[in-house]
Amino acid sequence: MLAAPKVNAFNPPRRTLMGPGPSDVYPEVLAAQARPTIGHLDPLFVGMMDELKSLIQYAFQTENAMTLAVSAPGSAGMETCFVNLVEPGEKVIVCRNGVFGERMRQNVERVGAIAVVVDNEWGEPVSVSDVEAALNANPDAKFLAFVHAETSTGALSDAKRLCALAKQHDCLSIVDAVTSLGGVELRVDEWGIDAIYSGSQKCLSCVPGLSPVSFSPAAVEKLKARKTQVQSWFLDQSLVMGYWSGDQSAGGKRSYHHTAPVNALYALHESLRLLAQEGLENAWMRHQSMHQVLRDGLESLGLKFVVEEQSRLPQLNAVYIPEGIDDALVRKQLLENYNLEIGAGLGALAGKAWRIGLMGFGARRENVALCLRALQEVLS
Ligand code: PLP
Repeated sequence: MLAAPKVNAFNPPRRTLMGPGPSDVYPEVLAAQARPTIGHLDPLFVGMMDELKSLIQYAFQTENAMTLAVSAPGSAGMETCFVNLVEPGEKVIVCRNGVFGERMRQNVERVGAIAVVVDNEWGEPVSVSDVEAALNANPDAKFLAFVHAETSTGALSDAKRLCALAKQHDCLSIVDAVTSLGGVELRVDEWGIDAIYSGSQKCLSCVPGLSPVSFSPAAVEKLKARKTQVQSWFLDQSLVMGYWSGDQSAGGKRSYHHTAPVNALYALHESLRLLAQEGLENAWMRHQSMHQVLRDGLESLGLKFVVEEQSRLPQLNAVYIPEGIDDALVRKQLLENYNLEIGAGLGALAGKAWRIGLMGFGARRENVALCLRALQEVLS
């Protein structure tokens, strides 16, 4: 028999989270998560789920019936799109301008499909003309996949134009909105996005571990027309929808699929309720105006942005680390002396850049002021 480990209750300090996510969680969301757990088929919980679905639809600006939260983080949302929609042997144009485009490519490969990669430099948005050329050169492509807001660099791509191009070439679009949802303009129905996924832990300022996902009617048709079974039982949306929307063959009754993360879903409900209360467009504007204050302050400290102004994400500010500065030491001092977390560089930018997040509840004047003051003191 193993001896029982003697450990104390875990009591984390209160940090200010200004990295690439998780972001600062709204106090109301933390409080919502602490409410009593009830059964996931309890009629009261089911009523909350109906509201949650309409809140996700609002955040995505979509009327898609197949809209839900996958019970797992953003990477599972990504996988949900690929395993459900893409079949072995199909061709997918995948845009890669950072870490998460490469993760999409790996998903394509793992479902046994063919990835045609459109590469752009780290820090640049996806090139619409390069994508057009790839679509012209690959008339048999079935999908266009790209990251709207590339968290590894802070670049925003033109989802509206890219999805319009996909449509012109009879391709379904698969869009990563993990960092974009709630922080920048995103209109799923108006832009004709077919499959989209996000994460709870970025601009929604919810606890990590959930992934809002939505499929257009055309994507649902593609799923229904599959010749092969979805490889993943857990992520198979035709099964999950029996729980989220009710099994139509059983009179719309919700059926057990997996045990829903009940309290985490309370948290998502609350964070999306707060977003709806603020108004999506107000939230987008708040991110932009806080970014401008931060940008001016960072530039006055002599820091240079990785991404050009016109394609810069307000919620993810990547700046080059000045010559001679010890990256890890600066982040350690910020954490230990100011309880402030900023992000390290990722992939090609590891050791070269810092990523400063202004996401959701974190996109506030006091966070910007703390970050600028702390950086100034640590760098002087
Ligand atoms: N896509 C993007 C753009 C991301 O930023 C992230 C996480 O940072 C993911 C996907 C993966 O999300 P998760 O870490 O929640 O699995």
